Amino acid sequence: MEDGASIKAKALIGCDGVHSVVAHWLGLRAPIDSGRWAVRGLAVYPEGHGLNLEIQQFVTSGKRAGFVPLNDKEVYWFLTSKFSSKGKDMARDPELIMKEVTDNFAKDFPRQYLKVVQRSDLSTLTWAPLMFRPPWDMIFGNLSKGNVTVAGDAMHPMTPDMGQGGCSALEDAVVLGRHIGDSIIRNKRFVGGDQMAGVLERYVKERRWRAAGLITGSYLSGWVQQEGSGWFTKFLRDVIFYKLLFIVLFSVRDYNCGKLPSVTSNGTPRLENNPRKVD
Ligand SMILES: Cc1cc2nc3c(=O)[nH]c(=O)nc-3n(C[C@H](O)[C@H](O)[C@H](O)COP(=O)(O)OP(=O)(O)OC[C@H]3O[C@@H](n4cnc5c(N)ncnc54)[C@H](O)[C@@H]3O)c2cc1C
Repeated sequence: MEDGASIKAKALIGCDGVHSVVAHWLGLRAPIDSGRWAVRGLAVYPEGHGLNLEIQQFVTSGKRAGFVPLNDKEVYWFLTSKFSSKGKDMARDPELIMKEVTDNFAKDFPRQYLKVVQRSDLSTLTWAPLMFRPPWDMIFGNLSKGNVTVAGDAMHPMTPDMGQGGCSALEDAVVLGRHIGDSIIRNKRFVGGDQMAGVLERYVKERRWRAAGLITGSYLSGWVQQEGSGWFTKFLRDVIFYKLLFIVLFSVRDYNCGKLPSVTSNGTPRLENNPRKVD
């Protein structure tokens, strides 16, 4: 640890985000910058916003923006765009984020969108470059080594175009919990050493292709929705993507992580209808 202390553990799960030191230790390459960035914020209406509870999205060449009422007083909004030289300054300054969005990036978007942005609570505004791990690094890279592995953005950073980064981090937690739980039941104790390494390998095996698919789907979804304004890109976006691929692509968000092993009321652990149990 930074203060010189050390902790002995049977396993280390790196949940340290997109710039994970644990992923680096495993030998995974640093995530790639997609060349796009995103701003997010929360607009607050103490008196109520009066909007319908539906998502609204606006797309123009190289930019995509939208808002989603979360309840009757708060509206989440976002804007993604391509590289901007002001990006790094915006990361540190919420007032600059607000100014750049309203005066520059979103100035041609409908008035309704700008009005939402102007109602933002400044403390909620964030700017972030959109990073991802290439799917082939997920498929061929070392996602675990001995008793060390990664979860969440540390394992599979992805662009946010399917809204699945945080959701898939939760999937990781359930799948990992299931494998560790199965191991405790099988061994009647919390094992370490080679047995724990095997548990982490089974977790990684289950997550590798799922996460690679989400990264790919998210990247393509972002690319087709934001790239270019020519007739071909519009055809790809409005006909092929929104009318044909959208439902298929977004249906992968429904994912069954399997059932966690449960403990009976008399304290004896048992496996309960576990459809994804891996031996
Ligand atoms: C614009 C945008 C929109 C998004 N929209 C969605 C969405 O709609 N739905 C969705 O599911 N996901 C979305 N995501 C993705 C989601 O935010 C992330 O996937 C999620 O936050 C990842 O969680 P995490 O815990 O793995 O990493 P993080 O949230 O990054 O947490 C990592 C933590 O580790 C800590 N840390 C880092 N290094 C160290 C260290 N060396 N030692 C100790 N601690 C450390 C950090 O301080 C941080 O607290 C979006 C992301 C962006 C950028």
